[in-house]
Amino acid sequence: MAKQDLILLALDPSPILGLMERTLHSAGFEVAIASDLIGLNKSMHEAIPSLMIVGEKFAEQSGFTIAKELLERFPTLPIIFYAEQDTTGFAKTALKMGLSGYLYPPLKVSDITEEVQRSLDRSSKLGDWLRREVRRTTSSLTERAKLSESERSKLDAIIANIQDGVIVLDDKKSILLANHAIYDIFNLDGKEITGRPLDEMIKNADLQALLIRAGDGPLKYHEINFDDGRVFNAQYTPIPRIGAAVTMQDISYLKELDRLKSDFIHTVSHDLRSPLTSILGYTELVERTGPLNANQLEFLHRLQGSIHHITTLINDLLDLGRLEAGFDTRREAVQLEGVLHYSLDMFDGQLKKKKIILNTDITPDLHPLRANPIRIRQMLDNLIGNAIKYTPDGGRIGISMSMQDDQVILKVEDTGYGIPPDEQGRVFEKFYRATNAVEDIEGSGLGLAIVKSIVDSHQGRVWVESVVGKGSTFIVLLPAHE
Ligand code: ADP
Repeated sequence: MAKQDLILLALDPSPILGLMERTLHSAGFEVAIASDLIGLNKSMHEAIPSLMIVGEKFAEQSGFTIAKELLERFPTLPIIFYAEQDTTGFAKTALKMGLSGYLYPPLKVSDITEEVQRSLDRSSKLGDWLRREVRRTTSSLTERAKLSESERSKLDAIIANIQDGVIVLDDKKSILLANHAIYDIFNLDGKEITGRPLDEMIKNADLQALLIRAGDGPLKYHEINFDDGRVFNAQYTPIPRIGAAVTMQDISYLKELDRLKSDFIHTVSHDLRSPLTSILGYTELVERTGPLNANQLEFLHRLQGSIHHITTLINDLLDLGRLEAGFDTRREAVQLEGVLHYSLDMFDGQLKKKKIILNTDITPDLHPLRANPIRIRQMLDNLIGNAIKYTPDGGRIGISMSMQDDQVILKVEDTGYGIPPDEQGRVFEKFYRATNAVEDIEGSGLGLAIVKSIVDSHQGRVWVESVVGKGSTFIVLLPAHE
């Protein structure tokens, strides 16, 4: 028996109170008697008893109300209810409230000690179980905390040693984390940048442009150029509930390779053009130098057709070379609608031949572009030419021009074959022809590369939205003339 257990009695003075006090004393318990509600509260404040016996009425309050309040504050406190007389109503309420015992007269000494002891035993078992559970949960939590701590340091080590630059930003674009590579890329040696706004700590126009553009559209890649010739491909990835991550890969060597390849293509194309011109000239002379039979004439025309084809290809390649080299600097106010009319005049025959219905929708407040008119015509020709080429007979083409802030939006929409989703990003690459390019549709795969170069050189954006079997929409954004 736990001799030091304190039993608090909340009973009005009566012979029963005396009997209980004596009995519990002689059973070795420490006993305290609350004289009124204030005394009861004080006792509870000074030392929480091991058990409490509360009378049916105490200090003019219902024993149940007192027990209920106490259980709300001390849910594990064992409380025995003492009723003046036994009724099923009392017993039921005591049971419902979760009291641990119930006494009523006539009372024998053994009734009191047994009920008290039983309640204390049960409460101590409950206490043991609770302590065990708490220990178990705490140790598993500690274990988990240890694990996540080691995971975290592993992750820190991985991020720190990654060759690519990694910056993690919070939702206000302040730096949460930046790895070694970022310090090297931006020469930030010795600077403390964590916790500071990115635009204050890393002043790079291309990086700022990526962050601004990342918010307003599907574009999440951006090239970051440095004065010393280094080029990085930066990728922006939103991270839910944190902010975003920017990763940067060094693509300087790829850019250099690309430049060498372009130089090579440019030189070869240039050298091929002159002999081709003279071949074409001679084929035309042959026709004039004497009578040819029908077969000879047909072969000659096929020859001329092929030479035209190669010449167009070479001209495209030379054009691309010039565009990529940044030679295209001519800028003037260009009325896009006017250029469209010239382009549509050229395609009129093809549209009629394929019975394609054409719709145009041009906003009346269309601003002029600040552009090179020859390049804009070339861009329109390529987009409209493709729409016709990749739309079966009897299809529809829609061309719209509208304004969004200070940008002109051009859309060329068709009801053609469409482009498979995984190829949509690649159609702007040089020589790329998507798998939808039906075999007898001729092409070199350079048209859209030229479109992209033209749009890039005018600080615009171009992309495609397409559904196989339904059609494609090429969308171009170009800055309007101020
Ligand atoms: P090509 O000379 O092959 O037409 P482009 O560079 O103009 O080359 O286009 C690249 C590829 O993109 C095409 O081969 C074709 O697969 C696809 N493409 C371009 N425009 C369309 C379009 N309007 N509808 C469907 N596919 C298209």
